[in-house]
Amino acid sequence: MITDTHTHLYSEQFDEDREAMIQRAKDVGVSRFFIPAIDSSYTERMLALEAKFSKDVFLMMGLHPTSVKENYKEELALVKEWIDKRDFYAIGEIGIDLYWNKTFLKQQQEAFRTQIQWAKEKKLPIVIHCRDAFDEIFEVLETEKSDDLFGIFHCFTGTLEQAKKAISYNMKLGIGGVATFKNGKIDKFLNEIDIKHIVLETDAPYLAPTPYRGKRNESSYITNVIDKLVDIYSLSFEEIADITTQNSKDIFSV
Ligand SMILES: [Zn+2]
Repeated sequence: MITDTHTHLYSEQFDEDREAMIQRAKDVGVSRFFIPAIDSSYTERMLALEAKFSKDVFLMMGLHPTSVKENYKEELALVKEWIDKRDFYAIGEIGIDLYWNKTFLKQQQEAFRTQIQWAKEKKLPIVIHCRDAFDEIFEVLETEKSDDLFGIFHCFTGTLEQAKKAISYNMKLGIGGVATFKNGKIDKFLNEIDIKHIVLETDAPYLAPTPYRGKRNESSYITNVIDKLVDIYSLSFEEIADITTQNSKDIFSV
């Protein structure tokens, strides 16, 4: 059983072949799909996806850092309304992204902190998006750390030291296509990180693993990530799938 802990199955990029694409993933053994939120413009699509694939998909709720703009307070209010109204499996994806734009750094920090506090209240995991912002992310985690703070550092791209630091805040590392890239760097030290801290993800439709790099990603390509981890950890394909699925169960409690 394989778990894709981060896949945007509701993306417009799958509108032409969503059902076939999900079937391809099921055919290679992916049976659990965790669905990160972005902002309110995608909520209806997420709910429609859940209605159609209720046994397979598990929804998160949250405001993505690149969607933190002038109207972020209204967006946050919608997130709060949803998490008070029904169950979700995590608060995500949330975090800080300084790659595209630094204009809203203060607001991104505030939105990140606020959503962490909601997650702690609800005893839910967080799913962190971090791009060019390790120091800023760790600054918030340091002040919010507690037994109730746990989750996944999605699409982890940092150094060994940053990996250890993330783990010290009860975070698992979300490993996907980047581990298969020639210049991805994390494959060089991942063997020093116990596999109990690793979960698998695709971030489809983004970040397709080698040999699909640059193309549209989909959840079935997670097998290319597992193949890479087989080399890194000298474990079998089945062992990698089982251990990382168990790790995802520890996080999402499902
Ligand atoms: Zn994502």
